[in-house]
Amino acid sequence: MRTMLSCVVYLLLSTLAFGQKTPVLFQKVRVFDGAKIIPETDVLIAKGKIKEIGPDLPVGDAKVVDGTGKTLLPGLIDAHVHVHGAETLEQALIFGVTTELDMMMPPQLERQLKASDSDNRASFFSAGYPATVPGGHGTEYGGQVPTLITASEAEAFVENRIREGSDYIKIMYTAGVDTGRMNLPPTLSRATLAAVIAAAHKHQRLAVVHIGSELGARNAIEAGADGLAHLFRGHSSPRDFGELVAAHHAFVIPTLSVMHAVCGPESAGSRLVKDPHLAPYLTRAAKDRLKETFPSARSGLLSCEAAPQALRQLEETGALIVAGTDAPNPGTTYGASLHGELEMYVEAGLTPTEALTTATSAPAQAFHIPDRGRIAPGLRADLLLVNGHPDEDIRATRNIQAVYKAGVQLDRPRR
Ligand SMILES: [Zn+2]
Repeated sequence: MRTMLSCVVYLLLSTLAFGQKTPVLFQKVRVFDGAKIIPETDVLIAKGKIKEIGPDLPVGDAKVVDGTGKTLLPGLIDAHVHVHGAETLEQALIFGVTTELDMMMPPQLERQLKASDSDNRASFFSAGYPATVPGGHGTEYGGQVPTLITASEAEAFVENRIREGSDYIKIMYTAGVDTGRMNLPPTLSRATLAAVIAAAHKHQRLAVVHIGSELGARNAIEAGADGLAHLFRGHSSPRDFGELVAAHHAFVIPTLSVMHAVCGPESAGSRLVKDPHLAPYLTRAAKDRLKETFPSARSGLLSCEAAPQALRQLEETGALIVAGTDAPNPGTTYGASLHGELEMYVEAGLTPTEALTTATSAPAQAFHIPDRGRIAPGLRADLLLVNGHPDEDIRATRNIQAVYKAGVQLDRPRR
């Protein structure tokens, strides 16, 4: 009886302590460190940070996790989402996405969420309001979205965003986009695009540009954009695209998840709702969203064949590819869609290890976030422990054993 009681007390205490930042030792675990695979090693985390990596580390007061048959990865980063509230960040973390990079949200919400961070939410960085013209992309969702027209307004526009808390500057540039409608949305001139990028750089901020066409991509890269927030539609990618991006040291966030829902015939998300590793953690609303497409998908008039081609060109030229989904647009949802995005990169021709890099060390490098994206001593203990070898089968990222945010293990709620 006493033994049973002490067992219960021990379990209770260990559970309580586990919710805090108890040191954890992952023993004999396969590690993807953000760039390469270490077949078997130990990893010790303590006080929210990665402390040590190496074989046969002393246990000390750490809780031991048997890593046999498992792979430890840096927490995933989705570099193109729109944060709509605390639920956004909670759902992302359930799927091992420990950091979300927002590409347009109201600054009031950004401040509110940053002030109320908690262990069960992914952390995030935000663009706040994007740079766009009156009636341009970004204004159609309502709210008081600030706009600009001339290059002379760029400096004040960027200063206002930084004052509101923007971590980087997002620019909406829809030149050359054929939506199949008579009235194309207005967009920034090339001169204003260049002026906003220059103003962002003057204030040490990245300029990330939304584009929807090959022309838009080319103009944005030539104007000095640090990154493109999408790949472009079309039947083929121009031969020099990868070289253009590489020569300008820019990065690209492909967002194939949302492009599938634009071009059709069905969304990429419709595959994810059937995945036995993802489905139990998806709400009904998230499942419905994953199955949706844009009206354009039903017309069958648009082609997205250029995107996987462009992705291969980027890989061949060594340009930086940064994974992003554009959740919660139709066909996508927070967290789960990033796993589908990585699978599509592998289908396009990347190796699974290259795909894993796009959601870990590559976004940390592109967005200058040095405390995460890799497994190395001193970095945040944002970690994803999965069953299997995702460097051999990318879908193993969905077979989640545990998620840690800054060293705290998440209790993953089923829905
Ligand atoms: Zn977006």
